Amino acid sequence: MEINLISDTVTKPTHEMLQHMFRAKVGDDVYKQDPTVNELEETVADLFGMEAALFFPSGTMANQAAIKLHTNPGEQLICDKWAHVFNYEGGGASFNSGVSCCLIDGDRGMITAEQVEAAINPPEFYHSPLTSLVCVENTTNKGGGACYDIETLKQIKQVCDKHGLKYHLDGARLWNALVAKKQHPKEFGAFFDTISVCLSKGLGAPVGSVLLGDKKTMNRALRIRKILGGGMRQAGYLAAAGLYALRNNVGRLENDHKRAKELGQILKQKNWIATVEPVETNILIFSVKPNYSEQAVIEKLKQKNIAISAMGKGKLRIVTHLDYKEVMHNYVLDTLEKLCL
Ligand SMILES: *Cc1c(COP(=O)(O)O)cnc(C)c1O
Repeated sequence: MEINLISDTVTKPTHEMLQHMFRAKVGDDVYKQDPTVNELEETVADLFGMEAALFFPSGTMANQAAIKLHTNPGEQLICDKWAHVFNYEGGGASFNSGVSCCLIDGDRGMITAEQVEAAINPPEFYHSPLTSLVCVENTTNKGGGACYDIETLKQIKQVCDKHGLKYHLDGARLWNALVAKKQHPKEFGAFFDTISVCLSKGLGAPVGSVLLGDKKTMNRALRIRKILGGGMRQAGYLAAAGLYALRNNVGRLENDHKRAKELGQILKQKNWIATVEPVETNILIFSVKPNYSEQAVIEKLKQKNIAISAMGKGKLRIVTHLDYKEVMHNYVLDTLEKLCL
């Protein structure tokens, strides 16, 4: 039994999902003639109460398209220092849009309205880059699956409005936040200019993200997606996986959260652990005491067929997901319980 806890992106489509993909009605989506892609886009837009949606091959491309939509070269966006858009998209903000990032020292990847307001460059001071966009992440990836309070997000929106800034939500794992906090997608759809959501993380689809916004913005996004090389033809086979995932795999995220919390509880009792960060969703970040090495933990677990990842600076990460079943969970709990370094 191989247990892979490095990310929730490692899931493979189930037989049922594959059957659903197999049966999809498809057409050429570059001509907007793929009925299944159209259905997915309408479904997600309706779910969030937003006017329009566009299917993307990856979350990175959806975020990068959003940055391009909301900025001009030379301008600046504001985000947390751990933001995916800054750290893990290959420098795309500068490569694709020619913008720099003003990084905020947030709490577990989350920033506040005060911090955003303080980070805005005065527009009349032409020596500095013009601030045009704020990007937030919910849940936070490097921040350990932390969820924003929706009030905080609304306060940031007020700052955006006051200063004429656009507001993008990187919601790769927004599904996890919705389930953990018992929120409705429409609460988020009501005030963001754009939202990206992933179908290939906790929801278990093999590929795909969706970008949401108003009609005018998403019409422009269509051109940007084409320029980035994201115009796909019979993409309905992939969209079918997303539709299946939305119908079947959202509620069950609760299991992933429960298991991550249980793993956290076990780890807290180990004498070689320095800290276990609060577990709100499916990501568990912990660190080893200075005289222990993260690599030793990885190696020991590897010998037991359990894969987890190192994050540097003594930190390690476990991510629970759809393919991490109850038997595996019991085995991992047991293994961690007995693990000595
Ligand atoms: C995974 C992820 C993305 C998108 O990643 P892709 O691998 O390109 O789909 C974007 N933002 C966050 C926070 C993520 O965790």
